Amino acid sequence: MAKIMAINAGSSSLKFKLYEMPQEQVLTSGIVEKIGHDDAIFTLKHQGEKINKILSIKDHAEAVKLMLDELINNHIISSYDEIKATGHRIVQGGKYFKHSEIFNEDVEAKIESLIPLAPLHNAAHLIGYRAFKKILPNIGAVAVFDTAFHMTMQEEDYIFPIPYEYSEKYDIRRYGAHGTSHHYLALESKKYLSDVKHPKIITCHIGSGASISAIKDYQCVATSMGLTPLGGIMMGTRTGDLDPSVMKYCCYCENKSAEEMFQIFNKKSGLLGVSGVSNDSRDVLSALENGNKRAILAYKLFIRRICDFIGQYYVRLGGCDLIVFSAGIGENSPETRTMIIEQIKDALHVEIDEKLNSSLRGKEGLISTSNSQIKVAVIPTDEEVMIARDTYNLLLKGN
Ligand code: AMP
Repeated sequence: MAKIMAINAGSSSLKFKLYEMPQEQVLTSGIVEKIGHDDAIFTLKHQGEKINKILSIKDHAEAVKLMLDELINNHIISSYDEIKATGHRIVQGGKYFKHSEIFNEDVEAKIESLIPLAPLHNAAHLIGYRAFKKILPNIGAVAVFDTAFHMTMQEEDYIFPIPYEYSEKYDIRRYGAHGTSHHYLALESKKYLSDVKHPKIITCHIGSGASISAIKDYQCVATSMGLTPLGGIMMGTRTGDLDPSVMKYCCYCENKSAEEMFQIFNKKSGLLGVSGVSNDSRDVLSALENGNKRAILAYKLFIRRICDFIGQYYVRLGGCDLIVFSAGIGENSPETRTMIIEQIKDALHVEIDEKLNSSLRGKEGLISTSNSQIKVAVIPTDEEVMIARDTYNLLLKGN
């Protein structure tokens, strides 16, 4: 038995989940937010209770120390030594990483070299990793990459049709994202596919960030996000795929730089931009119910983009045995699932049981009928357990 911490570090936040491995038992979880501020927020979830503190935290190292001290104060661990390893989510692994790796100087340098491809994320992940290394210098750490699961794609699935020398010189390609989630969903899908020889799965990770993957024999063959998480389907605040001339023309009309427009396409577009209401699907859905025309259009567009990708991946896979819905919207919004199935049902001969569908919010289960030619399941995703598993397997298993 060993305690392992799965970590997702952002530029001003640090999310953590402590596991007892290999049992995969969650001992506690929490988040430190607004790091670098006098009113930073520390939240710890333990035995059904939530502990909240507001205090000054100057940097990530201080956040790590505070978090570990709180684990001791709450009798979750008795000393720092009880933590045997840490696993870190890394958004961009570039061309280097096809699976998780134990941190060393080379791994650290490669993650650093990829900062231009994921400026906010990779830089923050390294800050988090270095903070843990400072406070817990004697334990191993593992990097778990969001892009690794997608590295099995074929060239024609990941190369963009730009001058090929750009792709070569600058490593421009579809890297995708949410790979750890799509991988988890693929593994969890096995129980629904025991009678299928070469399973074909379409996983729909639909949260505020959203992506869809086509998976054959439990390996990724295509995914919707692109060079960065801006590509693919429309999202809470991101455009998803666009004709590049939209970017150029918007810059010209609004007299804005490419960088300014890139920020707008990342942070002010998608459901928020089209509806003018919110980036949160719940707000857009309730505005839609009240007849708000732009909310109706935004949601129609959102659903259409999802269905376009499902159709594309059905063809790419040569059929489909299982469609999986996951993440904030996919897990919790039966209305959204209904709207999607409604649009693909005639072409793909897929049917869901509305009673089963409406009963599933944040819980796992099949929602398709026995007549459906494709099974449909809701599976809550769990990226943290994948981080804990890889960390345990690479550093502690067999020791
Ligand atoms: P995520 O990024 O996976 O945390 O997902 C966030 C999205 O999930 C937001 O758009 C939320 O509106 C949506 N969401 C979360 N809970 C619900 C719910 N109960 N019903 C509908 N949408 C939800």
